Amino acid sequence: KEINSRENNVAKIKVVVRKRPLNKKELARKEDDVVSVRDNGLTVHEPKLKVDLTAYVEKHEFCFDAVLDQQVTNDEVYRETVQPIIPIIFQRTKATCFAYGQTGSGKTYTMQPLPLRAADDIVRLLNHPTYRNQKFKLWLSYFEIYGGKLYDLLSDRKKLCMREDGRQQVCIVGLQEFEVLDVQIVKEYIERGNAARSTGSTGANEESSRSHAILQLVVKKHNEVKDTRRNNDTNESKGGKVVGKISFIDLAGSERGADTTDNDRQTRMEGAEINKSLLALKECIRALDNDQLHIPFRGSKLTEVLRDSFVGNSRTVMISCISPNAGSCEHTLNTLRYADRVK
Ligand code: ADP
Ligand code: MG
Repeated sequence: KEINSRENNVAKIKVVVRKRPLNKKELARKEDDVVSVRDNGLTVHEPKLKVDLTAYVEKHEFCFDAVLDQQVTNDEVYRETVQPIIPIIFQRTKATCFAYGQTGSGKTYTMQPLPLRAADDIVRLLNHPTYRNQKFKLWLSYFEIYGGKLYDLLSDRKKLCMREDGRQQVCIVGLQEFEVLDVQIVKEYIERGNAARSTGSTGANEESSRSHAILQLVVKKHNEVKDTRRNNDTNESKGGKVVGKISFIDLAGSERGADTTDNDRQTRMEGAEINKSLLALKECIRALDNDQLHIPFRGSKLTEVLRDSFVGNSRTVMISCISPNAGSCEHTLNTLRYADRVK
């Protein structure tokens, strides 16, 4: 079986929208489902009022590379978004998969299972005759960007810093990487990392919606045993040369970027940081799409960290998650407009 035959069919940038079903609360409130999906298009039926208080509906139509309706399973999401990229990770590709959307729209629900399935496929390829003798290994790391700072989610939230090595490789000093020998361990790492995500007095979900969580699967080639002694405190510490990687990014709630007028100073600063990073992300993806030579990755910590995924041979998948209820209409439209601009 030819593994690489699909290489040229994988779009550089793919924008996918996923609609979740109405939840129990929304159903109990008898909220309307205002999003209808047809093929790769969708319509938002925005309820509005005229000056004389008569109600009417304004329709907004969008079209994306794919639109995943509420009954679509996580398996199908994986097949549609990440799976086509996996074989080219072995050919010097850096890939990124983002989940974007307001808090409660399904980002974590969507993102959580993807690395598991990806690791499963990668491990299978590692053991395929094509790669079996190439001394490739799979490594996993999981960290968070919170208030513009990096924290290792698999190492007691150790604060990390970033360095460039002159070859446009990003190096996160001190980031722990773990070898993935079987897929069960990936699940454990994800759970461990999630437990370590930012939690404050206001409760776990509230705080995690203010951070970007980044899980990376990296395929490295290990030539010499000597390698392991170099750069002891860097993410090259386990030796090996990066062949390719895929980053899964559960972005901060998009509505948090609007917290810039909040009374609380901390909240305001975090809101400004989130706003900056989501804008910078959009600009970088657009620059990538236009084959621009200058990628404005310096706009935020998030894009700086992803710098090496915005140059050279890269693939980007943006999964925009939306809530279907009438009460979320404004946020849904914002998310869809953002996704539309990325294309
Ligand atoms: P976010 O990470 O964007 O804040 P979550 O992923 O936590 O949102 O989802 C909010 C709630 O909705 C969770 O209880 C989750 O289980 C549920 N949910 C999200 N997407 C779906 C879906 N496609 N199908 C069923 N339930 C979903
Ligand atoms: Mg979440």
